[in-house]
Amino acid sequence: MNHVGTTAPGQTPAPLLAVRNLSVLFRMRAGRDIPAVSDVSFDLAAGECLVLVGESGCGKSVLASALLGLLPGNARTAGTARMDGLDLLAAGERTLARTVRGRRVGLVPQSPAAHLTPVRTVRSQLAETLRELTGARRAGMREATERAAARAVFPADHLDRYPHQLSGGLAQRAATALALVGDAPLLIADEPTTGLDRDLVDRTVDELRRHADDGRGLLVITHDLAAAGRIADRVAVMYAGRVVELADSGDFFGTAGPRHPYARGLLDALPERSFTPIPGLPPELDALPEGCAFAPRCGNATARCGTLPPFAGGIACHHVPQAAPHA
Ligand code: SF4
Repeated sequence: MNHVGTTAPGQTPAPLLAVRNLSVLFRMRAGRDIPAVSDVSFDLAAGECLVLVGESGCGKSVLASALLGLLPGNARTAGTARMDGLDLLAAGERTLARTVRGRRVGLVPQSPAAHLTPVRTVRSQLAETLRELTGARRAGMREATERAAARAVFPADHLDRYPHQLSGGLAQRAATALALVGDAPLLIADEPTTGLDRDLVDRTVDELRRHADDGRGLLVITHDLAAAGRIADRVAVMYAGRVVELADSGDFFGTAGPRHPYARGLLDALPERSFTPIPGLPPELDALPEGCAFAPRCGNATARCGTLPPFAGGIACHHVPQAAPHA
């Protein structure tokens, strides 16, 4: 089991979100099953930002979709994801639509252009969301929409544009502004910096960080490790559907560095580090090797890696020393 805890000794606040043994399987034609997420557990505290990183197809976005009930019909989920007494995985569509999406859980979607309503301006969509989630009235709506847009650095002079008139970066900012409106207790941001230049990445990330600093939970999914380092309290590294390392951000990006060979490889691949790509490609999820899925790409692999390494002490690897327990 991948078990990610958050609570320091002596502090036992209930987590905002408690995910246990979450698995997602896609049932394909001819009886083929694809395990997209396997046995993931973690807690997320109020005021905390957890960032999920990993290469495309590692299960990060599927995990987020599972939490919001946005998986396609051929998906089968197992496990629980409890938030405020409600199991998000077991909740029906009516409950999810009325009380979860936008209210308990906000989403900055991975494909903002597809998420925005094509026949309505950004202003109109922001105004509707403000009315629904905050009870805002017509009087003062113009100022309210402009304030909401400004939170995501969306320019006020573009508010009367339709989604097809926006660049990818502006569509991203419009979707982020919509996601921030309800100040939901939990915000999930799926690749929120796609299409943004570095200055806008930093400003967007800082606005999202404020969401956590105001006492809410923030789950960010990204392949942008610079953005992750700027925003995260903790980092969870996913590979082939599993969390293989969970670390404090300061350790992960600092002197200590990642402990899992895959996580080390991710950082070493950055141009500002040694610019050395990880050899090989991630495995197909319906053809995972026995044991550790990273073994075909791992320089430390031994025969022992033919069995699945358990997740313990924040890491799933047979050949990495366990972290010393906190004093
Ligand atoms: S379990 Fe083995 S193959 Fe997997 S990351 Fe650790 S050393 Fe490499």
